[in-house]
Amino acid sequence: MPKAAVAAAAVAGPSNAFATMMSSAAENQAWKEAEADFHGKSGSGSGGKGGQRGGGKRERRKAPFFKVMQGMPIAVDAFRYGKIPGVTAYLLTHAHADHYTNLSASWKNGPIYCSEATANLIKHMLRVDPKWVHPLPLDVPTVLPNTGGVEVTLIEANHCPGSTLFLFDGLQTVNAGDSEFHSSWVGSSKRFRYLHCGDFRASPRHAEHPAVKGKRLDLVYLDTTYLDPKYCFPPQKMVIDACAALAKRIVMGVNDVNAQEQVRPKLSSMNGWFKKPASMIDGKGKGKEVAREKGRTLVVVGTYKVGKERVVRAIAESLSSKIYCQGAQRAIVKCQDDPELQSMITSDPLEASVHMVPLGIIQVDRMETYLGTFKGAFTKLVGFRPTGWTYTPPAGVDLNPSIAQIISRDQARTFTSASLQPARGSTAKITLYGVPYSEHSSFFELTSFALSIEWVKMIATVNVGSESSRAKMQKWFEKWDGERKRKSVVIVPRTPDYW
Ligand SMILES: [Zn+2]
Repeated sequence: MPKAAVAAAAVAGPSNAFATMMSSAAENQAWKEAEADFHGKSGSGSGGKGGQRGGGKRERRKAPFFKVMQGMPIAVDAFRYGKIPGVTAYLLTHAHADHYTNLSASWKNGPIYCSEATANLIKHMLRVDPKWVHPLPLDVPTVLPNTGGVEVTLIEANHCPGSTLFLFDGLQTVNAGDSEFHSSWVGSSKRFRYLHCGDFRASPRHAEHPAVKGKRLDLVYLDTTYLDPKYCFPPQKMVIDACAALAKRIVMGVNDVNAQEQVRPKLSSMNGWFKKPASMIDGKGKGKEVAREKGRTLVVVGTYKVGKERVVRAIAESLSSKIYCQGAQRAIVKCQDDPELQSMITSDPLEASVHMVPLGIIQVDRMETYLGTFKGAFTKLVGFRPTGWTYTPPAGVDLNPSIAQIISRDQARTFTSASLQPARGSTAKITLYGVPYSEHSSFFELTSFALSIEWVKMIATVNVGSESSRAKMQKWFEKWDGERKRKSVVIVPRTPDYW
């Protein structure tokens, strides 16, 4: 579609809320352009350094429309495209590789704005020149320089350390970026509010945030990683508590009150299985005194370089243990702006009965080797592998539920230590648990979030590579919108942390 036609489509039918932002025809066109990037047809093909082609013409890869905030000179998580036309502020939601692709020591395309922890992490891990890195405070609206006065508020994302949502509030002043779509609101006096979710695990706290609650959000750039009803894993808090209770039961022989009923038949054999040093049973043993005892159980928890630390932390707290991890990981924890976690970290593996290791090595053979390196200090190992990806819904789950069904189904669900079962391949010495722990929203949480905030239009940012996937997600956006308008469903959060 020629530019003029796209612009005309964007303003057609001003009474239609969708049309005020971007008509569906214009959006389809913009997605078509974006596909060229996903399939490597535009610019650099397979992503040469700094968004440049490896040899020859050095053509820059084009940024898809949703990487640049509509009508604003602001790009989010868009470092792989090099210098994007018209963009004066590059924002980073969090320090995960798929969001900072191509950001490196040689970055020189403009100022980078992010949270304090993310700023520390990219300076440390990527050696980005500090002169480009501008940490912003959480929860306080801050004007971004050279953006026509756009204010941004950083909101904790409930994803990984340092991760944030961005709430933008301002005028549309420029059609920046590579897209053919040009907003007709540029130059108007209408203020726009966009919520960019980066990667997040939606919680009632997001909907209740003063920058969000009761505010009309013209565009929501949504983390649609799990926007499919088959992703119905339990609330993160329940999963963390279950892991902590199970670790405590195994290591210290302390029962989890919540799970007691369900586990009673197994409990006697469990107690016989695991040896309990006296100092652990009374719960007073801490640090080196406990660590030097013979016949101890080592708890090993997988994490990302940045992310999934909550399980290891909760387990260590429940066992009153320090956390050991290797030097490179300790340096990363140091960046995270979390003095409490940092105070739990030790460089002595024998001082801690809880170890933090890369997620990928939580496998029976790797753990056997790992346990072998502490021969004499630890005799058994319990491993936790927190991942949301491998979770399979219970048999008989309706995969095309109504919104009322989604809510009642998920709100009735519980998760305790009894829900955790040893993974196949576990041995007498090595017991591993796969944990349905996610740092992205479940389908139910996305639904709850969408029904709890005031939005005009959702734009998916994940799983957008194919038209059929986008169409499926669009159906849910429409379902949510219809449900919101009918107001027939009210979602009451179970706690401030989860719906
Ligand atoms: Zn992430």
